[in-house]
Formats: sequence, C-alpha cells, structure tokens
Amino acid sequence: MAGAVEIAWTDATWDPLAGCTRKSAACRQCYAEAATAASAQGGGWGQGFAELGDSGPAWTGKIALREDRLRFPLALEHPCRIFVNSLSDLFHESLEAETIDRIFAVMASAPRHVFQVLTKRPKTMQPYLADAGTPARIERHMAELGGVATKIDAWPLPNVWIGVTAENQKEAARRIPLLLQTPAAVRFVAAEPLLEALDLAPGTWLRAEPTDAAGPKLDWIIAGGEIGTGAKPCHPDWARSLRDQCARGETPFFWTHWGEHLPATGAAAPGEAAGQPGGENPARRLDGRLHEAFPVSPV
Ligand code: SF4
Repeated sequence: MAGAVEIAWTDATWDPLAGCTRKSAACRQCYAEAATAASAQGGGWGQGFAELGDSGPAWTGKIALREDRLRFPLALEHPCRIFVNSLSDLFHESLEAETIDRIFAVMASAPRHVFQVLTKRPKTMQPYLADAGTPARIERHMAELGGVATKIDAWPLPNVWIGVTAENQKEAARRIPLLLQTPAAVRFVAAEPLLEALDLAPGTWLRAEPTDAAGPKLDWIIAGGEIGTGAKPCHPDWARSLRDQCARGETPFFWTHWGEHLPATGAAAPGEAAGQPGGENPARRLDGRLHEAFPVSPV
C-alpha cells in the first residue's frame, strides 16, 4: 500500500503475504516495496520479493504466503481492527484461490476481530467473494487452525470489511461498481493518495441522503494526501468535496493526513510537519477539524 506513515484507521496490521506488483498511480510511492526491499537487503523475510537497485526499490514479481505470519490474529486476545496485507494485495492476480481461502479461514476463525481488506484488484475480488462455493472452501481450512469458530454461520463474513483504493476518477469508475457488486458486510473506499477531485456519485455510489436505501452504497470513505519524494500536493478543495459528499448521506468520513504537502493556509495549520498522524497533529485536520468517523459494523 502507498504512504509510509502510521495507519490511523486501524489498530494492527497483519501481513500474511509477501511481494506485490504495481497496479495503478496509487502505487507509485509504495512503502511496501521499500520496506520489503529493505528487509531483503538486511537478509530478512523480504528476500526474493523485492530488491534495492540503482533506481530504488523494485518488486521482483514473486508473491507468496508467509506461513509464519498466517496465524497472527488468532494470538491477539483483545478484539481489534486489523488491516489485512498492508504490504501486499490479498487479491493479487497471481495468487491461487487456495491461498486466499487460507487467509479468509483465519478471519472466519477469529470473529472477535474486524478485518479491513483493501485492494486495488476488485476484478479478482468480486468473483472470489460472489462465488457460492467460496464459503465451503474456506471452511475446509478452518479446522486446521484451532480458532474459536470452525463453521461459517453467516456470509458475507460480518467481521470483514471490504474496500478498494480510488486515487482518481478513472480508478473510482473502474473499482467502485465492482465493490458494490461484491458481497460484504461493510464496503469502503480509500481515496488515498488523493490525486485529484473525486465525484463519488451521491445517489449511485454514496447515499445521497441518510434514508437513501436504493441498492448497495458505500459505508465508509477514507481519504488522505500522498507521501514520498515528488508527492503530488492535495488541494484542500478535493478533501472538502469528499467530506461534503459524505455529509449528504451521513456516510462516515475519515481524513488521514495531508501527506507530504500541507496546504499553505486555512485547511490545516501552516508550519506543521506533514505525514505524522496523531490525535492532535494539525497535519491531520481539515479546516481545523479532525474527521475520524468509522462505519457501523455488524460486529
Ligand atoms: S497494491 Fe499496494 S502493496 Fe501492491 S504495489 Fe500497489 S501500493 Fe504497493
């Protein structure tokens, strides 16, 4: 995933996969690529998945399950929100369905946690989650985990939130309709890095008013600026527009941070270092306010 900062909208990250490949403009400042290459350089888990070359970190194209990380959520006793694969993409085209099944089996076996799955590959995700055979395949892997749950009682899983990245209008138009066709307890969009103004189509993708019940709608919007060398400044009006589109239908809105470039005046306090999220950091404020809303979740 892009952006080398603390992830303010989750409690923990879980990385059962290593490796990825770039998919769209949101990947150009991918911190996962840099972190994996740094690990490889130091002789760690990243070996074989990314390399540090003359022009910087680069994926090798290899992607695989990390058996040593697979069961991590089962050991977390206190319920928390867990961001799945902050260093990869669960729906990467090169993965076997069985690998995805095994990761979902962990999520199904730990219903005390909320799992936040964010992808740039809804073309793989949508048929996987819409396949009537998927729950039975996942169940077959649950028995081997020894978790609290060994059966799937409800589908889609109530503790799994599904989201897509929409950094620009082109990707929003490609990805959001597929997300809305995907069975999910909570559907969200991460407009991060926010690279241009976005129309989230209130009435079609977003609720146009709180009582708007016509078809599936987005349940949560996250947005934030870009981090890294050459990062594109985020115009305050792009952020304001998303905030206001969400307000129409009372869709929860989470503003993460301005990224590498703070607005000169007005939207956040000038002179503060950007990219350092924290409860009182003005770099996280939009027009002087924190926006940290979460969706209503079935669990
Ligand atoms: S999908 Fe995420 S992890 Fe993969 S290259 Fe893009 S930003 Fe990096």
